[in-house]
Amino acid sequence: MKTPHLDRMKHARETLRTQEISDFLDWLGEQGIVLSRPHEHGDSCYDTTDEDREYPTCGLEQEQLLFYHHETKEKLLARYAGVDLAGCEEERVALLEEMRKRHRQRRKEREVVYGLTRPWDRRL
Ligand SMILES: [Zn+2]
Repeated sequence: MKTPHLDRMKHARETLRTQEISDFLDWLGEQGIVLSRPHEHGDSCYDTTDEDREYPTCGLEQEQLLFYHHETKEKLLARYAGVDLAGCEEERVALLEEMRKRHRQRRKEREVVYGLTRPWDRRL
């Protein structure tokens, strides 16, 4: 089974040292240091009648106020490494399903060969 997303994650761990970066981010957190970003005016900062966007109504001066960066460490690192977390999760689920299927198949084969059936396996 091909797992391009999980392969990408493994590659990123090895080449971009994402585990070390993760440890560093944890250490920053322990020091009480958080990631923040300056406010940037967006669509919601302007009145709809202000077509030239001259007067922001948010009351904030651009780049003067810092805002806590809410992205989780996992998502931030995934974005940095170009890893698709949803894709990784889909592949994990598919791998697990394949393992279950193989396990069921092996159990069936064993039952045929040895005539093994446990009471809880009998579905009559
Ligand atoms: Zn603004």
